Amino acid sequence: MLNVKGVVLAQKPVGEQDRFIDILTAEYGVIEVLVKGASKISSKTGSATQLFSYAQFSLADKKHGRARILGSVSPISIFYGLRSSVTAVALASYFSQIIGFSVLPKDGTPEILRLMLNCLHFLSEKTHEEHKLKAVFELRMAALLGFMPDVVMCRKCGTYLPAELSFSVEGGYFCCRACRDPESLAQWIDMPAASLQAVRHIVLSDFERIFSFRIGEAAQAPLYAFAEAFLQYHIDRKFPTLEFYQAISGNSVLS
Ligand SMILES: [Zn+2]
Repeated sequence: MLNVKGVVLAQKPVGEQDRFIDILTAEYGVIEVLVKGASKISSKTGSATQLFSYAQFSLADKKHGRARILGSVSPISIFYGLRSSVTAVALASYFSQIIGFSVLPKDGTPEILRLMLNCLHFLSEKTHEEHKLKAVFELRMAALLGFMPDVVMCRKCGTYLPAELSFSVEGGYFCCRACRDPESLAQWIDMPAASLQAVRHIVLSDFERIFSFRIGEAAQAPLYAFAEAFLQYHIDRKFPTLEFYQAISGNSVLS
């Protein structure tokens, strides 16, 4: 028996009554689990194995193909508040898809689980603006996957905090607006100093502080556009859940 805490990232019905679920754990990355009789079992088990639930799982040693078989489960947090917002569910689905498609370290991903749990909690409690949560998730996730933007200084002249700057999506570094090569065909995102400060905060702060920052209205769109483009570029994949979120939130950060 393996006892492990995890959050349900995806589910897929199999046959009449069973269901495969993918759970993100701190110790083992993402594990595939077969829930037998998922459609007829008690509501307690049903809610603990539904999408985005965080629960304590007991998994049998016997396997079904690659999947472990669920013995028992008890919910830790169901994030009920999520269900009342279509955009919150869409965003949580996007986060799940990114994690599901990323190559996670085999020996454990406690920071990624923690990031996901924090985002689910804030989405459920509606304490943070959704676009801001999305940007924090995208940039911190990129950093956790090994794609750390260079936020130290202008690549060309060494200025620490230019008033106006451009961030290279492909290069992951920035230049003052004046230092940027005008011939460059690379994808640049122009931003004010306040957006750069937010990027620095998200990728460099201790985990406890990553969600705690204020950002003025003018600095929001460039931050959100950079976060989305930077993660997409490095994961190199289009996510249908992102397109869906953009469509229903009525605010594509790239437009
Ligand atoms: Zn410069």
